[in-house]
Amino acid sequence: MVLGRSMFRASRGNAPHSGEIVSARAVVKTYATGKETFQALKGVDFTVHAGEMVAVMGPSGSGKTTLLNVLSGLDTIDSGQIWLEGKDLATMSDKARTAYRAQRMGFIFQVYNLLPVLSAVENVELPLLVSGVSQKEARRRSMAALERVGLDGWAAHRPAELSGGQRQRVTIARALVNNPAIVWADEPTGALDSKTANEIMGLLHELNQRDGLTSVIVTHDPAIGARTDRIVRMRDGEIVTRIDPILLTEPNLLATASGS
Ligand code: ADP
Ligand code: MG
Repeated sequence: MVLGRSMFRASRGNAPHSGEIVSARAVVKTYATGKETFQALKGVDFTVHAGEMVAVMGPSGSGKTTLLNVLSGLDTIDSGQIWLEGKDLATMSDKARTAYRAQRMGFIFQVYNLLPVLSAVENVELPLLVSGVSQKEARRRSMAALERVGLDGWAAHRPAELSGGQRQRVTIARALVNNPAIVWADEPTGALDSKTANEIMGLLHELNQRDGLTSVIVTHDPAIGARTDRIVRMRDGEIVTRIDPILLTEPNLLATASGS
């Protein structure tokens, strides 16, 4: 996998700043609703470096999901530029974007999106099978991913036989199974009770600390944000502040920071 990653880089070879997984400059995104247009992103600058765990916070409707969708190439932008591992997204064909997403990105959503008729391991290996990995290799990697999220022993269970927290672990395993450069999580704990939410965030934190997993996590929970390297706060389609999480736990520092 390490070899595969470096080969990918060598073949693209045009990273302007090494270590930047995602970089966005002056990104504007407009939605057309009937005759009206609505600017959901008003010129956003945003960079994620390899190994970072970044929280995106802000009120409902502030543009968090839109930001994730455009940065991951799921949706188009009106103006601005986005680079993925140094490659300008605008120069990639639809096919190249889809392939990049499948090979280099993992996604975790609030809703689990697991297929109810498939077992945990079958759900995890599905994207691998779709992208042409052999059955045997897909199974081997999926079992390893389930182990990484603490679900070895639950591989044969269907989603209905798993708790909410276990289901979200399956989606995390599915997001990890390709060894992605970055994992996007949109309110991954929004449907969980606070204890389970804490466990899931603990797992994402552990994957970051232990394996250097790069992730961007949209969340409402300040306690969750405080466990990440960096908090990006959005309001009305703009990034309003970047807060070091230590400021949340050290009120004196916060007073100093805002006073300066
Ligand atoms: P958040 O994830 O922070 O709650 P979103 O990114 O989902 O916010 O939405 C930002 C704004 O863009 C909201 O005002 C929302 O109504 C609007 N919006 C999102 N998706 C669409 C869409 N497909 N069509 C029109 N407006 C949209
Ligand atoms: Mg959202």
